[in-house]
Amino acid sequence: MYGTMMDTPLLLTSFLEHAGIYFGDVEIVSRRPDKSYHRYRYRDFYHRSRQLAEALQRAGLRRGDRVATLMWNHYAHLEAYFGIPAAGGVLHTLNLRLHPDDIAYIMNHAEDRFLLVDDVLVPLFEQVKDRVGVERVFVVPLSRQKIPDGYESYEEFLATASGDFQYPDLDEREAAGMCYTSGTTGKPKGVVYSHRALVLHSLASAMAGAVGIAQEDTVTPVVPMFHANAWGLPFTSVMVGAKQVFPGPHLDPVSLLELYEAEQVTVTAGVPTIWLGIVQELEREPERWRLQPMRMLVGGAAAPEGMIRAFDRFGLKVVHGWGMTETSPVATLGHVKSTLSHFSEDERYAFRAKQGYALPLLDLRIVGERGVAPWDGQTMGELQIRGPWVAASYYNRPESADSFTEDGWFRTGDIAVIDPEGYVKITDRAKDLIKSGGEWISSLDLENALMGHPAVAEAAVFAVPHPKWQERPVAAVVLKRGADAGEEELREYLAARFAKWWLPDGFVFLDEIPRTSAGKFLKSKLREQFKDWYPR
Ligand code: ADP
Repeated sequence: MYGTMMDTPLLLTSFLEHAGIYFGDVEIVSRRPDKSYHRYRYRDFYHRSRQLAEALQRAGLRRGDRVATLMWNHYAHLEAYFGIPAAGGVLHTLNLRLHPDDIAYIMNHAEDRFLLVDDVLVPLFEQVKDRVGVERVFVVPLSRQKIPDGYESYEEFLATASGDFQYPDLDEREAAGMCYTSGTTGKPKGVVYSHRALVLHSLASAMAGAVGIAQEDTVTPVVPMFHANAWGLPFTSVMVGAKQVFPGPHLDPVSLLELYEAEQVTVTAGVPTIWLGIVQELEREPERWRLQPMRMLVGGAAAPEGMIRAFDRFGLKVVHGWGMTETSPVATLGHVKSTLSHFSEDERYAFRAKQGYALPLLDLRIVGERGVAPWDGQTMGELQIRGPWVAASYYNRPESADSFTEDGWFRTGDIAVIDPEGYVKITDRAKDLIKSGGEWISSLDLENALMGHPAVAEAAVFAVPHPKWQERPVAAVVLKRGADAGEEELREYLAARFAKWWLPDGFVFLDEIPRTSAGKFLKSKLREQFKDWYPR
């Protein structure tokens, strides 16, 4: 027997309509490249997103056509987030930090038909222009300069709409968005999000007890809108009608703190690098900033426990999450369950520093050398996941079929343990693993511990080849401004926490740690640089 309920489709256009009806007065604030503020309200956003949808249709957009964006986080990008899918198109966010060769490869692979680009990013597009087949390029005037010759104006394009826009009759399984992984292993791979996946992801992440976003929140995604949909925050915020505050290109600690203070931000999100900078700024001048109590979603790389503790001292709550472009991206969150409240404070911090347990509707498992592993907090294996906002394949890439198992799970490429309470702890990415004498050493555990030392700003632990043990760990360390700590002191600090054979064989002190376009440590570069640590 079936239920007797309606089967209306789950569509992003419903969020747009809902926001247009209920949240017209709520503000959307964006920082321009010259640091001035652009302000308007949901009423304007609603109107302009529909104008964009209509203009795209008039320009000949067909269902499923890709419309690329090359943009920072701001109001016009938000319009693209909703206007493109509303027209039946696919929002394809391009990562502006990639090498132009990769951008050209991605645009050609996705067969982008139209492009929306910030005026300040036109010089970047110029580097790929002759290699890609986009038909029309619309420039968003952020810096109030005139539109460069040979390009069309986004504002004039919007003005071609009559205001009489009709939504196409969309199926919830149709593509709404597309994002390529940053390609740290091999060529970037495209993930295609359906309306259904993005709607369910928004509902789950907005829940109290998940990211927890309500109408009265003010939300600032620091994570770029070209990186896994800014973790879904723009969709979620429109769904609940929260005020949105976008940083534009200004992602340095002081600019962000200014924004948090001026706009009274209550929810923000980004990779640990951003927060390490902010914590240092807060510690340097604790009296300077008047912030609201904020929830800070931290993911993309492990949040060190020391960072979680440091923010607590300022009344700012870190919520540690794990996810991937392939998982829309939020999949697990490190909240401490009420049934664990009897644990000591230190133990509770240890839970918060794990990547957390799964959102509802998602299943997790660990697969090790001997098959599916027990949740004993010890047995390491590959983390696998399935659920309605997890990719089931990559776009047009049959050679990557082995990322998906025969029995319907996605293979994340992350190595993890799960404890009896269900908390995932990522120990490494498969390609960063350190295998010493046949046993795995967790580089993440070591580097997170090092980042708890008062003199250490950042630490990355990587493998160097060893004639007897195959591989041994070495730590690259960046010290805090004006701080001092030597190799001996750091080794002793770790010795209190780890088995002797886990301790790094050496420490190298660097000015900065090489990073990927998404701000994650690029350990392949460190491994290459120090591969002759031991004579071969
Ligand atoms: P890329 O694969 O290009 O880095 P993603 O942005 O999709 O692209 O990154 C996903 C990866 O980031 C995960 O597979 C995992 O290795 C890492 N990651 C994400 N969140 C965390 C976290 N909280 N702790 C540790 N690693 C994380």
